[in-house]
Amino acid sequence: MANERWCCRVCGYIHLGESLPDCCPVCGAKADLFEPSAPLSNPAGSVPGRWRCINCDFIHDGEVPPACCTVCGAGKEQFEPVAEQEKDSGKATMTGDIVVIGGGIAGLSAAEAARRIAPDASITLVCQEDDLPYYRLNLTRYLAGEITASDLPVHPESWYAEQRITMLNGAEVTTIDRSARLVAFKSHPAQSYDRLVLAMGAHPSIPPLPGAELENVATLRTCRDAEMILQQSRPGAGCVIIGGGVLGLEAAAALARRDVRVTLVEGVDWLLPRQLNRAVGERLAAVARGLGINLVCGARIRELAGMQAVQGVVLESGETIPADLVIIAAGVRSNSYLARMAGLDVNNGVVVDQHLRTSDPGIFAAGDLSEHQGTLYGTWAPAQYQGTIAGMNAAGGDAVFGGIPRSNSIKVLGVDLFSIGLVHPDDASYLVFEDDGDTFQQFVFRDSHLVGAVLLGDISLAAAVKKLMETNASCAELLAGASDAREIRAGIAGMV
Ligand SMILES: Cc1cc2nc3c(=O)[nH]c(=O)nc-3n(C[C@H](O)[C@H](O)[C@H](O)COP(=O)(O)OP(=O)(O)OC[C@H]3O[C@@H](n4cnc5c(N)ncnc54)[C@H](O)[C@@H]3O)c2cc1C
Repeated sequence: MANERWCCRVCGYIHLGESLPDCCPVCGAKADLFEPSAPLSNPAGSVPGRWRCINCDFIHDGEVPPACCTVCGAGKEQFEPVAEQEKDSGKATMTGDIVVIGGGIAGLSAAEAARRIAPDASITLVCQEDDLPYYRLNLTRYLAGEITASDLPVHPESWYAEQRITMLNGAEVTTIDRSARLVAFKSHPAQSYDRLVLAMGAHPSIPPLPGAELENVATLRTCRDAEMILQQSRPGAGCVIIGGGVLGLEAAAALARRDVRVTLVEGVDWLLPRQLNRAVGERLAAVARGLGINLVCGARIRELAGMQAVQGVVLESGETIPADLVIIAAGVRSNSYLARMAGLDVNNGVVVDQHLRTSDPGIFAAGDLSEHQGTLYGTWAPAQYQGTIAGMNAAGGDAVFGGIPRSNSIKVLGVDLFSIGLVHPDDASYLVFEDDGDTFQQFVFRDSHLVGAVLLGDISLAAAVKKLMETNASCAELLAGASDAREIRAGIAGMV
């Protein structure tokens, strides 16, 4: 039976099947956000099955280019076939031991990429978690009951054997001995390596609040965290979520769906303060309230109260919000401890160069753990992309990571949201167009160039906006002919 190809316009996931999926297993986008993805032929001289995004250099493996780039969102017309000699230059002859520490998406992508270009290398992927690598970004959908635990793994167990990747679960690395090229574990025999990839990700940041050590105070990073939260989430229970970022909001919406009485406390006056201006943040607040989430914005927390288990959250105002469960969603910190102890250069994350090499030429780093040109990305697609590059280079390749523009293309509280660049223009030198209709759009220009945008509700223009910003294209003509955000929107669609 012939399979059709359908591409998710939000994250680039390709679905093979006779009909559309109900929703995207990666990002949760509904079926109407999928589009058919027609097979294309490769020009002579190119390698069947490899495509490069001319925007960000992301390499996509598949018979056809993706409908949009997983990393930068560029459309399929922005992909070119990888030339024959490039594939050859990516073929490594590495036959030694590659050890990857961390079974998140960065580590998994590194192991996969290393295997692709070094068929004879020995590859070991080690992870302190007991689970096979899984879609961490889908833990909130798991909390909401939209998917089950069996939907979380990225690959079945058999895949690791097929790829000849040795997967060591429940294996916590305790030290890296660079002179002996050995990694030591808490409860496994030490393992030697020729090349090492660090992909230990990040851990939730916990503010120094009195009471943070009480029982039923949780964070959400792993499957185990999600299971613990689910155990406490009976209908009618009170849950306070600390932090009005994406993770806090998504966790709040998930638990509200389970009839938990959810209160979300945010220190700034509006939601998603890092990505949104006040107007859009307040619009999102109305959506949150409509889902039954009680919002307390602009509030500081004094302490978490309780004897053994948490019973409430005390605000600076003196008000106490009763709670059977508190979830702290206050950002993450790079797991750079092992690297620091091993003497590698570490700033806020493990410092890497454009080949994602650390200060030790035999050790690479990728994902939430790494810092590239001062940037810690902290999101899924860059971790996957960096992992692929670090894995290729660990296996003897020569791939370059040039950095990617920081943007957010997410679904929050069921609403599509895209933000990029400057969203809080702070003086009159910026030209701002806003349209607060059925959907919200904001475009920020400076000196005839687009320098920031927010799209809420309809993000179909996201790739075009990104491209305009990345290429630093002049928008002088567009600005001369447009007087409001709707015209700007139409103009941008026409320019790209
Ligand atoms: C609930 C949730 C929702 C999210 N939603 C989104 C989203 O919608 N969009 C988005 O772009 N991003 C989202 N993210 C962020 C995204 O999931 C991360 O950016 C991404 O998973 C980072 O991947 P990574 O491989 O670098 O690190 P991680 O996924 O953290 O993996 C690191 C792995 O290394 C292991 N490890 C750590 N130390 C050791 C050690 N000493 N020995 C052995 N193993 C070790 C860890 O246990 C972990 O398994 C979300 C994150 C969470 C938690």
